[in-house]
Amino acid sequence: MEIEKLKAQVSSEIDAHHNQLSELSLKIHSNPELGFHEVKAAEWLTRYLKENGFSIERGICELPTAFKAGYGKGRPVIAILAEYDALPGVGHACGHNLICTIAVGAGVASRLAIDQFGGSILVIGTPAEELYGGKAIMAERGAFNNLDIAMMVHPGIRDTATTHALACQNLEVEFLGKAAHAAARPEAGINALEAMLQSFAAINSLRQHIKSTARIHGIITDGGEAANVVPAHSAGIFIVRAEDDAYLDELKQKVLNCFIGAATASGAQLKYKWDEVRYAPMRNNLPLARLFTENMQSLGRKITFPRPGSGFGSTDMGNVSQLVPSIHPSVAIAKKEIAIHSPQFVSAAASKAGIKGLLDAAKALAMTVVDLTASPKTVAKAKKEFEQGSGS
Ligand SMILES: [Zn+2]
Ligand SMILES: [Zn+2]
Repeated sequence: MEIEKLKAQVSSEIDAHHNQLSELSLKIHSNPELGFHEVKAAEWLTRYLKENGFSIERGICELPTAFKAGYGKGRPVIAILAEYDALPGVGHACGHNLICTIAVGAGVASRLAIDQFGGSILVIGTPAEELYGGKAIMAERGAFNNLDIAMMVHPGIRDTATTHALACQNLEVEFLGKAAHAAARPEAGINALEAMLQSFAAINSLRQHIKSTARIHGIITDGGEAANVVPAHSAGIFIVRAEDDAYLDELKQKVLNCFIGAATASGAQLKYKWDEVRYAPMRNNLPLARLFTENMQSLGRKITFPRPGSGFGSTDMGNVSQLVPSIHPSVAIAKKEIAIHSPQFVSAAASKAGIKGLLDAAKALAMTVVDLTASPKTVAKAKKEFEQGSGS
């Protein structure tokens, strides 16, 4: 009974902060900042946490816009992760303005659970999810080493407690050819653009014979200067994704072979670089997902389970989930037809439904913190599943 009463209290605490949370979210939404440049967002979020009794460390892991805010002491150490970077060109098309306000809202409300049962709540600010895998860098620098639990909620088109996210790595490619007059002396040129186009053709052929859950996609960032000059240089960026690390390694080699083949065929020289950051696949901690599901359902939301093989991307939360029992649920803020990373999703992230999603997700996270702090058994169960290597 005490647990239910406390859950009602953390919920009302979030309602009491409704105006501040929605203002904070809309302010970040209308000031979109790209990865590692989220100066205003980091400042506003840490200010809010500080005003609400959290101790603040800014610039952790040698990343100026990363932060750690803490309340309470001892175990369990429960972290709620915040993302606040925007996308180039479109702004907050992934709704990270909501992720971070969900995190600070849940963190502040969780103080009630910490005061009652002990333990620590951390809000960890993790920059540059979209472009640079900030959490992967922070994981390497030890940011998640002493945690018992890590959670965050992402806005989307469904209410879920689990997320399928693929392992992925970026590849930058360049071909170096030789310029010549495209009509007067074509035989003197080596066409770097053709090498790039052949690579696309080879990858398209390869795509027929890869696992249906894997993904390969890319863009051309340089395709030549003028139509009457044989392109001496071409460049592109590609992303290779797979359900597990072993298949990602296999696929990376196959994709690379497409470029090597095109270089041989065209005579252009290939230069390539795999990104240092690699996104790990998401391991969903099912005991945590069950607690979150019950709490979301108590708020009148219906949790659905993503179909295996249904469309999904990658998240650097995957890297955290390899180290700590984690969940990365989704809260519905837009209709199913709306694509994430689209201008329509930018509007959704600032809509009434967006704010409702913010409040519900923050409540469900804070209620899950109540469950975890109230009973050491719940934490032990999550850890046991993690150590046994299960989870999906
Ligand atoms: Zn996102
Ligand atoms: Zn995104």
